[in-house]
Amino acid sequence: MKYVLVTGGVVSGLGKGVTASSIGVVLKACGLRVTSIKIDPYLNTDAGTMSPFEHGEVFVLDDGGEVDLDLGNYERFLDVTLTRENNITTGKIYQSVLEKERKGDYLGKTVQVVPHITDAIKDWIESVAAIPVDGKEAPADVCVIELGGTVGDIESMPFIEALRQLSFSVGQDNFCLVHVSLIPVLGVVGEQKTKPTQHSVRELRALGLTPHLLACRSAQPLLETTKEKLSQFCHVPAGNVLNIHDVPNIWHIPLLLRNQNAHNTILTQLDLLKIATPPDLQDWTKMAETYDNLTNSVRIAMVGKYVGLPDSYLSVVKALLHACIACSLKPSIDWIAASDLEDDSAELTPEAHASAWETLRNAACVLVPGGFGDRGVRGMILAAKYARENKVPYLGICLGMQISVIEFARSVLGLERADSTEFDAQTPNPVVIFMPEGSRTHMGSTMRLGSRRTLFQTPDCVTSKLYHNSDHVDERHRHRYEVNPEVIGILEGAGLKFVGKDESGSRMEILELPSHPYYVGVQFHPEFKSRPARPSALFLGLILAATGQLEAYLNRHQNGS
Ligand code: GLN
Repeated sequence: MKYVLVTGGVVSGLGKGVTASSIGVVLKACGLRVTSIKIDPYLNTDAGTMSPFEHGEVFVLDDGGEVDLDLGNYERFLDVTLTRENNITTGKIYQSVLEKERKGDYLGKTVQVVPHITDAIKDWIESVAAIPVDGKEAPADVCVIELGGTVGDIESMPFIEALRQLSFSVGQDNFCLVHVSLIPVLGVVGEQKTKPTQHSVRELRALGLTPHLLACRSAQPLLETTKEKLSQFCHVPAGNVLNIHDVPNIWHIPLLLRNQNAHNTILTQLDLLKIATPPDLQDWTKMAETYDNLTNSVRIAMVGKYVGLPDSYLSVVKALLHACIACSLKPSIDWIAASDLEDDSAELTPEAHASAWETLRNAACVLVPGGFGDRGVRGMILAAKYARENKVPYLGICLGMQISVIEFARSVLGLERADSTEFDAQTPNPVVIFMPEGSRTHMGSTMRLGSRRTLFQTPDCVTSKLYHNSDHVDERHRHRYEVNPEVIGILEGAGLKFVGKDESGSRMEILELPSHPYYVGVQFHPEFKSRPARPSALFLGLILAATGQLEAYLNRHQNGS
């Protein structure tokens, strides 16, 4: 196995994840099979308990792993299916070491960070790198490892030490280190400053790791003199100083790397030149350029709880982008804090209330994404009602589907107090209830997580047609509550159809309102499997409906083509 390690210096938020996935894309374009590992040096065992407000979205994998959103980037860029093991955290490593310690596996030895934690990290990396993630049998050729955080952080020290040891044990030809850094510009003269990068490389070298390449983030392209300076002071050949300056969209990054011959430098370092082909990035080029040249846009109202931080819904945003591009449109996302739509807000914050409603009314479609807790729920219900009554295309994801059911039960069935037991445990009309797959009492594992099969109940529904007339679909889940099976009869009698159910028939997966141009709710999260060139069917449906093209599209694709 060949490793490309990507570390970061100076500041966080440099786009290390995008750089690392773009390196993967370029290597893949050279005919190599690529896998990836993300290391998060925090103590949480996984991202499942982390707030989207603070950390961005929790990405969900097929195997049910709740992981850092960077794994979403890898899946989308490399078109692979990762496992929960591909996200290493300090918490996971310590847990495994402590479990072994309790079992007595260390035979009375003193258990220490070095060598026990570092050995556990190395073993984990080597065994996970060998898991094929692209549907083929044998392990990949290259594993891109991204070390989260910034070099010098106390919590990443054991990882740096383990990676140093790994680089030594796998040997020179099998290890390539790319250090991502920032070149700020200061003062009126606008000089590109190299000192912060010099310091972070020095720090890395003091820890025993020398970068083979620098990937320098900057606003404007780097001057040759800046590159020379970096080369001289950072012990890296000038040709290995890559520059990632600001680009119109992130799909340009692999192209930027290719244009600077990054693949050659990495392949030479890894002794892979003989098996690699010249990079074929035609599709990427087309995608990046198409995106740049889009002129028309479509307005999408995103009504959610965590609208302050767009990363909270990163995969939803990406899925909208993929779907819009397939329709030659630019997404124009209008974020609406659900609570601003509520009646209380009309009195407390009238301006916010008025502007939220105006934004909603000006949108071509409405999306209510997933979420937990009751904040903003009343506003989401109002948004779903608005979309249903005004025949505005609507996609409700997970919580968004549960919202539609509550709204329909209240408005159409007249069950005023209909609710989810998540929000009102005492509701006389529990239309959404807690339906654990496993134990009801064991709290830790009550979430329904990962890929589950949905069977279409009839071929005669919009969603089955959008999924190319397939009779089933496998999508990823992350929820506890579900539509109460006891109310399906009355809901369907009033016109809300449950066209997709799980294999047992008791879990509602997809709802549609046939009398509406596009009113779809799904218990799963279709955004996690959307890919740049393969948009998620349901997001595509939303955008097509928003622009009046859905019917024509369905007619064109009638035979599942
Ligand atoms: N809070 C809801 C549940 O647990 C919805 C979860 C979600 O939207 N991901 O079922």
